[in-house]
Amino acid sequence: MVFNEDKNSIRKKILSIRETYRVSNEEIERIKEKFLSLVDKYKSNVILLYYPYRNEVDTKPIIRELLKRKKTVLLPKVEKNRILPIFISDISDLKEGFAGIKEPEGKVYPKEKIDIVVVPAVAYDRKGYRLGYGKGFYDRFLKDFQNLKGKLCFKTKVRRNRFETQLIGLAYDFQVLDKLPHEKHDIPVDIIITPKEVIKTERGNC
Ligand code: ADP
Ligand code: MG
Repeated sequence: MVFNEDKNSIRKKILSIRETYRVSNEEIERIKEKFLSLVDKYKSNVILLYYPYRNEVDTKPIIRELLKRKKTVLLPKVEKNRILPIFISDISDLKEGFAGIKEPEGKVYPKEKIDIVVVPAVAYDRKGYRLGYGKGFYDRFLKDFQNLKGKLCFKTKVRRNRFETQLIGLAYDFQVLDKLPHEKHDIPVDIIITPKEVIKTERGNC
């Protein structure tokens, strides 16, 4: 569908659709259920989510449910243009931080212990490549979770990435495109969850 448009014009187009998109409770519920079943399947305990911003898929119901299930929930805090994963014990205990997004104030959690990173995006493609807000924050944060190269990944089927962390995107269906332009620094996610689909990307299949 989209091939030659540059990142900026795709970003603008998808954001304008998302700004006025009337989300149904059912869509949020479907994403939540699919996400929670992956948490069960992978027996994940430590999960970094994002706090919703500008009509992003609402993660608050997921955060509340994970806290209820006694999972370790982390939210990002931006400091000096870097994302820090911070432990939270209560969703109401947050303060406005970078770009007015709510952030926790607690302790930084060790990156290597994170089981799932929920990666926000404006759009994803079916290979898991993502388009963010254009600042590359998550690309820099995700560098440590990059896949091990080809052979090892396919032959051993043991270590998918350095920390065994699943990278998961949550999106409405209109945010998933066939193809997005990407550069060397762009890091794809393993799985994209939409109300209609659970898309395992090539990276996720290795
Ligand atoms: P986004 O992913 O937020 O849509 P881009 O992928 O276009 O945005 O990245 C935005 C900027 O961040 C680029 O100018 C890019 O050079 C920088 N950047 C992204 N990842 C890295 C990285 N791993 N190291 C250094 N700079 C990076
Ligand atoms: Mg990027």
